[in-house]
Amino acid sequence: SPIILWFRRDFRLADHAALSEAARSGRPIIPVFILDEVVETYGAAAKWRLNEALRVFGDRLKSLGSKLVLRRGRAKDVLGALVNETGATATWWTRAYDPDAIRRDKAVKTSLTSTGHDARSFPGHLLFEPWAVKTKQGGFFKVYSPMWRAVRGRPVDSANIAPKTLVSPYSWPENGSLESLQLRTAMNRGADVLVRHACVGETRALGRLRHFLDGPIDDYKGRRDFPAEEATSRLSENLAWGEIGPRTVWHAGLQAMNEGRQGAEHFLKELVWREFSYHLVYNSPEIVNCNWRPNWNNFPWQENSDDTVWRWKMGRTGVPIVDAAMRQLYVTGYMHNRCRMIAGSYLTKHLLKHWRIGQSWFEECLVDWDPAANAMGWQWVAGSGPDAVPFFRIFNPQKQAEKFDVEKRYISNFVAELVNEPGRDALDFFQACPRSWNLTPDCPYPEPIIDLGEGRRRALAAYEEMKLNT
Ligand code: FAD
Repeated sequence: SPIILWFRRDFRLADHAALSEAARSGRPIIPVFILDEVVETYGAAAKWRLNEALRVFGDRLKSLGSKLVLRRGRAKDVLGALVNETGATATWWTRAYDPDAIRRDKAVKTSLTSTGHDARSFPGHLLFEPWAVKTKQGGFFKVYSPMWRAVRGRPVDSANIAPKTLVSPYSWPENGSLESLQLRTAMNRGADVLVRHACVGETRALGRLRHFLDGPIDDYKGRRDFPAEEATSRLSENLAWGEIGPRTVWHAGLQAMNEGRQGAEHFLKELVWREFSYHLVYNSPEIVNCNWRPNWNNFPWQENSDDTVWRWKMGRTGVPIVDAAMRQLYVTGYMHNRCRMIAGSYLTKHLLKHWRIGQSWFEECLVDWDPAANAMGWQWVAGSGPDAVPFFRIFNPQKQAEKFDVEKRYISNFVAELVNEPGRDALDFFQACPRSWNLTPDCPYPEPIIDLGEGRRRALAAYEEMKLNT
């Protein structure tokens, strides 16, 4: 009898434990994707990127003589109906660890197993299961460095090889078209701009990894903070959608380290930041929505409805590096890590706006949107999270730009108003943003929302107020 393989954020053939085991069993396999209650809540760029992932993965499955069945509805109901339609006796999937997904998956498991069905989850999204890494006291890690020390030498299984063929069922269940899911319609702006920057599918993800190992990894440690350079792997987009498995990336990094390649160990450390974010989200799920440090509930965020949040979103704060970052996000669906920190710090400290505003804008705009990394990143930036940057260490965006964008290449690349002959990315911003923003390259570059020194003083005063109220 067939096995339903429920794909969610794991659109690959290699390094896929559930798929591997299903293929080994010799049983017919029905690959399925469901636009379910969790996926419905994704931001526009994530939905758009998901659409691309599904298109390419569907083609990949076709080349193996299989196909990706597409459905829409509550996961529990859709899978229940599919089991009835197909006579499948097993439904397998790759585990997810964020609270919404866990809630959904538990409901599915309870419902399917109540009839004796083999509903089973497999590892694959992470290197280490979040419950399998423990402090000496048996708790979970709230600080990154000891977690890194705990896992750095741990063996990681080698990645499963991609199956060459998949057995099809006698008859395929009814299948919706990708268009009918309407994942692209959420993206009412900028889709044709984003497409130039996306690197979709397993084959391209593996190419990206190879490219990184061919050169940039050597200078990774020294150059990874310079946003105008192509010094990082850019694999976040593919890891987020599971187009490459973390074990594949880990073993490639480990081999590079064993070959004495500079930067390789630092790269592995970054992969463990990803693990750390899931470790936190799994063991302390409230981190996704609530201040991890409860004293932050007393922080005097500015909640007035002035236009500063919009100016931040539109890349019109008058601080060039922040504006370049926000426009990179809008135009490419990606933002360099250093700039995520700078733009996030500016929003939460200079503008005193709640980190959740930034979190949800990133969720709306990032093609590498990841519920754990995004939540941890924002709580880190704001100072409210575990192992976060102390609030009083306020990034000065101008000094950051002088240090990490010395020749202003990054700023020039994205802020048209500041250069004589703007390039394509800078101009694309005006094409991508909604008409209602009323922006053209001829608009004068704005004055800063707030003087940087004044913003810093105001932020520190707010921090003191929170301490007094706690
Ligand atoms: P590389 O430098 O090549 O790193 C390799 C991989 O390690 C990345 O692909 C990523 O999977 C992981 N990684 C690196 N840094 C981090 C980190 N700080 N936290 C967690 N994992 C990390 N990353 C996302 O994937 N999705 C998000 O939604 C996201 N939101 C963020 C929000 C904020 C406010 C901040 C400060 C960071 C956020 N990050 C997020 C983390 C980080 O910025 C990106 O993972 C990184 O910029 C991706 O570029 P890269 O693939 O070239 O990274």
